[in-house]
Amino acid sequence: MAAPPNVPAMAAMEAGEKVSVWNYDLKPEGENDVTIKITKCGICATDIHMINNAWGFSVYPLIPGHEIVGEVVSYGSKVSGFQKGDLVGLGCLAQSCEKCPKCTTQQRDNLCPELKFTYFHTVVDETGEFQHRGGFASYIRTPASKVLKIPEGLDPAEAAPLLCAGVTTFTPLNEFSGNTGSLKGKKVGVIGPGGLGHLAVQFAAKMGAETVVIARNEAKKDFAFQLGATGFLVSESKDDMEAAARSFDFIISCISGGELDVHPYINLLAPYGTLHFVGIPDKPLTLDLMTMMFTRRSISCSPVGSTQQCRDMLEFAAKHGVKPIIERFPHSKAEEALEKVRSGKIRFRAVLENDLLSDAHAEKSGYGQ
Ligand SMILES: [Zn+2]
Ligand SMILES: [Zn+2]
Repeated sequence: MAAPPNVPAMAAMEAGEKVSVWNYDLKPEGENDVTIKITKCGICATDIHMINNAWGFSVYPLIPGHEIVGEVVSYGSKVSGFQKGDLVGLGCLAQSCEKCPKCTTQQRDNLCPELKFTYFHTVVDETGEFQHRGGFASYIRTPASKVLKIPEGLDPAEAAPLLCAGVTTFTPLNEFSGNTGSLKGKKVGVIGPGGLGHLAVQFAAKMGAETVVIARNEAKKDFAFQLGATGFLVSESKDDMEAAARSFDFIISCISGGELDVHPYINLLAPYGTLHFVGIPDKPLTLDLMTMMFTRRSISCSPVGSTQQCRDMLEFAAKHGVKPIIERFPHSKAEEALEKVRSGKIRFRAVLENDLLSDAHAEKSGYGQ
C-alpha cells in the first residue's frame, strides 16, 4: 500500500523537549526516491545530542533516528534495484553529491564534501525544498542511493543498530585488515564493551583476531568472553597494563565523553600499532609524541562508514552471526527508550518497533524484553 501524504512520527518540537506524536507531510516522491514503511529504528547517542541541539544545528520539529529498517512501498521512476516489499535499511548518510571521487571511484561517500545526514539537512530536488527526517516515524521518503538491502539471515530489529553502531566499529577493523575481513595473527584491544564496543568485540573476534576487552574493572569480564573475546585487561591495574605493554597491533576506543589519558593505552601498542577512536572524549587529548615516535605508533579516528562499507558490514554480520544485544520499545514509547539510553541503563542498544500505524498494532505483542 502506498504511503499516505501525511504520516505519524515522534518528534521533539523544541530543543531538549520530550518526543511526542507529530504528523508530518512526506515530501513528494522524486524520481530518485524510495519510500519506506518503517518497521524498526535504533536509538543512538547522537539522537539525544540532536534533540538537545548540542551542536547548534538541529532544526525543529526534529524527528530523530538514523538506524532505520523497513519495507519498500514505492519508488521513483529512475530507481532501480528495489522491489516493493524489499527489507531495506537507512543509516546516517542521507545524500551526497554522487559525482566526486569519494562518491564514485573510491566508494567513500561518507567523506563527500557535500554529504547530508539523515534528519540534519534541508535540501532541494526536482520536487522542491524538503528536510531530511529520521526514523522515529512511520514512513520515510529518501534518495535511493543510500538505501541498503538487509541481507537474509539478519533479524530486522537486530539489523537496525548495525546501520550506525555496527558500521562505525566494523569499518576501522576491516580497514586495518586491508579490507580482507581477516585479522588472524593480530592482537586487537577494545576499550569499553558498551553499545559500540560490544559490536567491535564481535567483529574483531569473527575476523580471527586475538581480541582483548579493556575495561576499568572486571564487571563485564564474563560478558566479554561470551562475545568472543579471548582476553580481558583491567585498565586500573598498573601491573596488568605493564605486563601487556608493546603487545597490541590495534586498539579501538569505543568510549564517548569524559576525560581520557591516552598514554596508558599508547603504552600497550606494539611498534607500528594504532590507537583508533570511534568515540570522542569531551576534553581535547593531551599527547606526548615521545611515546609514539620511537615505536612508530599512530593515533587515528573515523566517523561512520560509507554506503559500500555498510553493505560489506551487513554481509559480514549476516555471514558470521554478529548481532547487537537490544531492548525493544514501541515507537510510541520512544521517550521511555530515550530516557533509558540517557541514564546509561540500556543493554546495549534500544530499538523502536513501529506501532504508530493502525495496521502495525498487531505486531505489538512481545514488546518489552
Ligand atoms: Zn549513530
Ligand atoms: Zn561526493
